[in-house]
Amino acid sequence: MQYIQYQISTYKIIFSILFSVFAFVSFSDSLLSYDTEKLNSLIQEFSRHHPGSSVIIYNPDKGHVEYVFNRETAFRGFFSPGSIIKVFSAMAFMENAGQFQFNPSRRIICRGKYFLLPSVRITPSDEKIFNIRRENDGRRYLRCSKSHGPTDLHNAIAHSCNVYFLSYAEKNSNLIYKILVDRWKLNSSVKGSLNGAQIKLSANPFPGEIEILASSIGEGGLIRISPLKAAQIFGSFFIQKNALIPSENIKANSATAYSMHYNRSAANDLLKALQAVHQTGTLSSMKITNSRVKILASKTGTGTQYGKIFSTHAWNVIYFQIEGKKRVLVTFVKKGYGGKEAGQLSRLVINHL
Ligand SMILES: [Zn+2]
Repeated sequence: MQYIQYQISTYKIIFSILFSVFAFVSFSDSLLSYDTEKLNSLIQEFSRHHPGSSVIIYNPDKGHVEYVFNRETAFRGFFSPGSIIKVFSAMAFMENAGQFQFNPSRRIICRGKYFLLPSVRITPSDEKIFNIRRENDGRRYLRCSKSHGPTDLHNAIAHSCNVYFLSYAEKNSNLIYKILVDRWKLNSSVKGSLNGAQIKLSANPFPGEIEILASSIGEGGLIRISPLKAAQIFGSFFIQKNALIPSENIKANSATAYSMHYNRSAANDLLKALQAVHQTGTLSSMKITNSRVKILASKTGTGTQYGKIFSTHAWNVIYFQIEGKKRVLVTFVKKGYGGKEAGQLSRLVINHL
């Protein structure tokens, strides 16, 4: 009898030791410590030259906002996302290949100009929203960031080619817009308290054809998102799980905001292309000196400011790993370019983690 009691209490001790180790490991896994004061002062200094900049570091597994700079902009600002949206457009093409006549390995030639289909009606409001140019022969076009040449999906993501995305989106622009809004919830708030009062996000109840088409490249103002929304939806995409309600309470697990189901092979193909963004693509000028950080995927975005066709917002979304922990970094600069100003801000943050 004594022997049995002894055995039971030994098991109890072993069990409680194992439980505490497990609890410690699982708790410590959910935490990444930040030198918040240092980050704050570095970003403050950056913001002197780039007012309105904002940063979020988000744990996609837990839904935790672990670090935020400039809450007002990060949680309650809504901006043209530009090319970061191409990740979700690409998923839409892959998951609905028939409707978009999509083939990821087919190359589309980009000569720096996307010519609008002759049937597309250009409204006076389009002229205020888009920088629509005219060729000598009268054809109207939207510009690409450069002449990308023959471009497949991988390169279109790495180098962010507008011609590529618009050429597929024009096959069924209503469908791509509907998918971005319905499947990816890009026109909805994040849910929960961090977005503050619910804002009516849709800019125009009767959008024109070009506005709908350009939503596939995050332009035109029909889709505008907060940096927090970017963290939420990219977090879900990177780990291929439900989108969570973002929370600043790192002790509680966040609830599901939207159920998301992923076509894993499409998502994994896309993640490979997103790995190339900082290696050879639009974020290749961002030099990371922090050897503890490994960048797993990233995307830049340069979105036209609504109603100011020559001014742009700058975005980066970066999925990175540090000490075995995976996080999403969203940097936003009110005026600038994704590969430049947002890249400088991302580098500043990553090098000081
Ligand atoms: Zn291009």
